[in-house]
Amino acid sequence: MENLSNINNIRKILKKHNFKFSHSLGQNFIINPEICPKMADLSELDESTGVIEIGPGIGVLTNELAKRAKKVISIEIDRRLLPVLSETLFEFSNVKVLNADILKINLKELILEEFNDVENIVVCANLPYYITSPVIIKLLEGKLRLKSIVAMVQKEVAERICAGVGTRESSNITVTVNYYSKPKILFPVSRSDFMPSPKVDSAVIKLDINDDNSVKVKDEEVFFKVVKSVFLQRRKTILNSLSKGLNLDKVVIEEVLLKLGLDINLRAENLTMEQFISLANECTSY
Ligand code: SAM
Repeated sequence: MENLSNINNIRKILKKHNFKFSHSLGQNFIINPEICPKMADLSELDESTGVIEIGPGIGVLTNELAKRAKKVISIEIDRRLLPVLSETLFEFSNVKVLNADILKINLKELILEEFNDVENIVVCANLPYYITSPVIIKLLEGKLRLKSIVAMVQKEVAERICAGVGTRESSNITVTVNYYSKPKILFPVSRSDFMPSPKVDSAVIKLDINDDNSVKVKDEEVFFKVVKSVFLQRRKTILNSLSKGLNLDKVVIEEVLLKLGLDINLRAENLTMEQFISLANECTSY
């Protein structure tokens, strides 16, 4: 197959299939030939790895994944891309393209059906940006036997996710991602590396999945309720935001904070992961 990230080849294929980009499906295809091999390399694939790719587009990243992994399952919502992908991936017998919505597909079932003969499963994707957070949350909350997630996301989202819990830049998604994984930014990507060029720059991030925290947390539902409550009103003190979010009297929250040695004037951005966990565990009794 001709080089798929060469802009002239992409234009040729798209013209042949009379393909028009859909802005609402987040269709910005990579045209810098260095990016996909780098993403595939940093996903640490080998002959025992299964890969889930979200949104293959015309298959530029899929090609690099298929060269390195045992099996690739690519989930693409846009059926107009299926004939394109049959053409661009014809040489690979280890790739299966599923025409489905990543937010609706049952990933647990898919993994059971497709990946019982692989040692590790990783996700590698240039994500459609209109659903970045829901996709990441679905992958993490699903407890899916994933080893890691390598994903292209908006630069600003990458910075928020990787900000570090307990910093000014942290938010609900920072704590959620850090609860399930160790996130880091791998490399920045310019808006000019895409066709059509999006309005924002991007970055590739890697989330190495851990399962340590679920052992320490008594009730995950309460944990995430605590996190959501304090970030929903991030300018307020945790005394006020928790009382409102958990629907508990301020006296009760004050008692909890006192017991944990936490200042009632702290705000969401001041709390460490350990403090979020102890707070949630203490609130679980009420
Ligand atoms: N992987 C290609 C690349 O790097 O050039 C294309 C990436 S493009 C940013 C996002 C892709 O996700 C598009 O092919 C789009 O059709 C697909 N997509 C959008 N929403 C989706 C969804 N809900 N489920 C699965 N695929 C989706």
